[in-house]
Amino acid sequence: MTSLPSKELILKRLKKHIRYEGNHWLWVSSTRKGDYGVIGIENRQYTVSRLVLAVYLGLDYYDYSWQANHKVECQIPRCCSPACLYKGTHSENVQDSVKLKTQHWASKTHCPRNHEYTPENTIHYVNPYTGVKQRQCIICNRELGKIRQKKYQEKRGKAIRDAG
Ligand SMILES: [Zn+2]
Ligand SMILES: [Zn+2]
Repeated sequence: MTSLPSKELILKRLKKHIRYEGNHWLWVSSTRKGDYGVIGIENRQYTVSRLVLAVYLGLDYYDYSWQANHKVECQIPRCCSPACLYKGTHSENVQDSVKLKTQHWASKTHCPRNHEYTPENTIHYVNPYTGVKQRQCIICNRELGKIRQKKYQEKRGKAIRDAG
């Protein structure tokens, strides 16, 4: 097992890159893929959330049977507070994001063009790719159909004119 630098050193180095907001620790330094904080200590690079959990829970950083998952309650991707993370698995992480998407979906009362999602104006369907339940606004759906039809007819009319 490769060992980590001492807890004192890690915490000292982390602190310089964190802005504390209430219980949240906002990572304000380098990130990979936009939201995974990364830090170099003694010529090694670490993923911040994983490093924080390893230090706080006394876990083996190099044991890849676990991963640092973000709790659903904390909506700040770059937060790396040990209170907002938990030791979990990849599939738990997937479940969390499905849960979040479903919550997000349920909280909306209007479509992007501001028609209300009434029972009469809503098509329910399950996204075949994500398995997430989604809604579609019937008014928008109908208008989209009309626009498509109009475009198709214009094309067809033009084709006929071109041929003549
Ligand atoms: Zn947080
Ligand atoms: Zn609509």
